[in-house]
Amino acid sequence: MPNSDFLVIGGGVIGLNIARELRQRHPDADVTLIEKESGCGQHASGRNSGVLHAGFYYTPDSLKARFTRDGNRLLTDYCERKGIPINKCGKLVVARDADDLPFLDELLARGRKNGVELYDIDEVEARSIEPRVITHQRAIFSPNTASVNPADVMRAMQADAEREGVRIHLGVRYLQQKGRSVRTSAGDYQAGYVVNAAGLYADKIAKDFGFSERYQILPFKGLYLYSDEPPGSVRTNIYPVPDLRNPFLGVHYTVTVDGRVKIGPTAIPAFWREQYQGYGRFSLPEFADIARLQLGLFTQSSFDFKRLAMEEMRKYSRSRMVSLAAGLLRDVDQRHYLRWGKPGIRAQLLDVRSRKLEMDFVLEGDDRSMHVLNAVSPAFTCSIPFSRHVCDRIEAAVH
Ligand SMILES: Cc1cc2nc3c(=O)[nH]c(=O)nc-3n(C[C@H](O)[C@H](O)[C@H](O)COP(=O)(O)OP(=O)(O)OC[C@H]3O[C@@H](n4cnc5c(N)ncnc54)[C@H](O)[C@@H]3O)c2cc1C
Repeated sequence: MPNSDFLVIGGGVIGLNIARELRQRHPDADVTLIEKESGCGQHASGRNSGVLHAGFYYTPDSLKARFTRDGNRLLTDYCERKGIPINKCGKLVVARDADDLPFLDELLARGRKNGVELYDIDEVEARSIEPRVITHQRAIFSPNTASVNPADVMRAMQADAEREGVRIHLGVRYLQQKGRSVRTSAGDYQAGYVVNAAGLYADKIAKDFGFSERYQILPFKGLYLYSDEPPGSVRTNIYPVPDLRNPFLGVHYTVTVDGRVKIGPTAIPAFWREQYQGYGRFSLPEFADIARLQLGLFTQSSFDFKRLAMEEMRKYSRSRMVSLAAGLLRDVDQRHYLRWGKPGIRAQLLDVRSRKLEMDFVLEGDDRSMHVLNAVSPAFTCSIPFSRHVCDRIEAAVH
């Protein structure tokens, strides 16, 4: 039976960074990470937009505000040190009409409180950054927003973790908790301390340990549509003002690391946790569970799930996606947007009692286990400082 001081479940960006941080803090300890897939980063961490966010969407009292600004800097430094390509193309947040202007002001105020470099600019200045941009009167420019290929980052982090002595066991699925040991698809593991960073399955695993009582993960699918226009056709990321009542940012333009453009991601309710394509990874119990939850939210929710779901389902249509994006940029031609990219699924936490989507990262644990429950966007950006925070919480729980 493998024996470890720390057993980390999940080889996404959060599990890998927690495992590395634990090894650094406890050089004599055995740190083992189990990942059910044949490689790390096969889910959200390898399928996201690859945007290093700057940190102005989040209220100053949130963990997201605390870690996005620093995470942006630390991940930018990491990519530069490792020679991982990074596109420091910045980002414009635009107003579609006069009703959006107060929300631009709110984002500016949050950014200032969070210590983020931001510029309140007019239409002319916005067009000097991106000549095709459409905005009403004003826009926000964030110079520190950047993009990377998340798969490059994950490969480098996995290699670092292995070199630093983290034992990574691939193709090993957590099944059940049994006292001091953990049952997996490769037999039982003895674990001094368990860290659950299982993304889409984190709530289920937490429940085995007596946590996540009031939460359940609601999966939302993010689709991307790629443009075949040549690199450089769009110079910067362009986002609309988001609906600040929910954690999604609306259909936007992302400039990839090689200068191409994609639109998305959507936030379409998924019916099972890994519903990437067709009936792949279909699970009847998951489907029944999630469909029941969604049906309940349809009749009552604090974030108007019905409206969100109806709007998002329409984005399965290519023409709908392109017409939404065309509100942000001039001369958008549908014929350029023919290729759907690899989708990602958000492990969004729902408070089942208040029927509310959790907006911030959620951590629950004790002196035996710690559970990362809502590592949604921008957890990729936040991964380095957030993982340090998880380790601080573990130390506080153990002592
Ligand atoms: C569409 C989309 C776009 C996004 N865009 C951005 C962005 O631009 N910028 C940003 O900062 N963030 C973004 N995010 C958020 C970011 O990708 C996630 O917050 C982050 O990757 C979460 O990392 P994680 O390690 O918690 O989860 P994951 O990457 O999902 O990792 C969890 C791992 O646990 C494993 N696992 C699950 N169950 C078990 C089990 N039983 N046994 C063993 N292993 C198990 C899974 O296989 C998986 O590898 C986006 C997310 C999505 C979905």
